[in-house]
Amino acid sequence: MSVREDAILEIGLEPRECECCGSRDAELVFSSHSIVKRAFSMWRFPMNVAVCRICGFCFVSPGPKPEDLAQYHAEGLSGYKAIGLPYTIEPRLEVLARYSAPSGVFAEVGGDQAGEFHQRLSGLFGRIIDVEISEDTTAQFRSVHDLPEESVDVIAHYDVLEHIGQVRPFLASCHRALKPGGVMVCETPDMRLYPRNLVLLEFEHTNHFSVTTLAAIAGQLGLELIEVGHLCSRTYGMVNVFRKTAVPAARPLANPIERLDALACLRGGMEQIRRNELQMAALRERMTGLSRRGKRITVWAVTDLLRRLLDGYELPSTAVIVDADPRRESHLADLGLAVRQPKDCLDHLGDSELLVICAPRYGLQILEAVTRDTGKTFARSDVVMLGSGPSGEALI
Ligand SMILES: [Zn+2]
Repeated sequence: MSVREDAILEIGLEPRECECCGSRDAELVFSSHSIVKRAFSMWRFPMNVAVCRICGFCFVSPGPKPEDLAQYHAEGLSGYKAIGLPYTIEPRLEVLARYSAPSGVFAEVGGDQAGEFHQRLSGLFGRIIDVEISEDTTAQFRSVHDLPEESVDVIAHYDVLEHIGQVRPFLASCHRALKPGGVMVCETPDMRLYPRNLVLLEFEHTNHFSVTTLAAIAGQLGLELIEVGHLCSRTYGMVNVFRKTAVPAARPLANPIERLDALACLRGGMEQIRRNELQMAALRERMTGLSRRGKRITVWAVTDLLRRLLDGYELPSTAVIVDADPRRESHLADLGLAVRQPKDCLDHLGDSELLVICAPRYGLQILEAVTRDTGKTFARSDVVMLGSGPSGEALI
């Protein structure tokens, strides 16, 4: 980690070898970076997406130094639940019902602050364990490596593995924690869907999986793929279920087709990012034009998409930024911008001619909250949902 002059912590980088086949020959395809405020510090998070020339596994290299990544994630902000969950619970329950162990142990790794999801697991499992690195949560364990050996019947992680700096040690600890014949449920984004979403923009992602590469890595750690599906708690995801076996699979051979597929998926993702930039350029023009005519604008949610919107663009004077999470009040201080809570500017919200939503996952909940709290229902043409597809579906 290095400290920049403007007191932004920077994630340090180091080369990574392919965790699927062991090669050091990866082709850099896409680079970017993001600035993000965590619980205490501002961070600059670089991203270098590469594809292994031998097996086609896609991962960031050079990638974050493990100690920097651990510090970054320990400084996490547990999810703000008042506006809704960023995932749906039912698909998770549907999968877990097939592997339930009413007197057994279920462990979730990286589940943030446990809530409704765990409450709804009662009946499926006898005991539920939380493993979460964020220090502002009340989890029993901070690391998967701390779980006792052969203590868990089902271990699950949802949208976690793509954030892990080193996949193999993580999966090895999942394997170690499972009882013989135990099951691991893993949801991650599916690379095959990148041409239809904006997940490639997610700068925290250090690994990009297809079913093939995920199964090849897990197999080598003694986790055999037994179920694949796309009925997931997030729209861009895939769910893969593995069973603990005694005999690990061999390393994969060269896979030129997987490499070509990975490159095609990344290029499709980069095209989505280009379209998103065009959407933002048009939005900036519209906001500037409205402001010149004295029209009010509300911009909702402090996210990476908002930072991209503000990159090189001065927010017009008639625009107000709001976020329901009070912890984000100072998150744009580096840009000299205040973040207000919606409840403190209901008049501005109600008088706004344009509502810009920068958190598409929460789009519907935000629109409902606006109508509930102000009595105003924005016309469809007066709402811009950044990071959403032509039918309004969230792409990120
Ligand atoms: Zn490889």
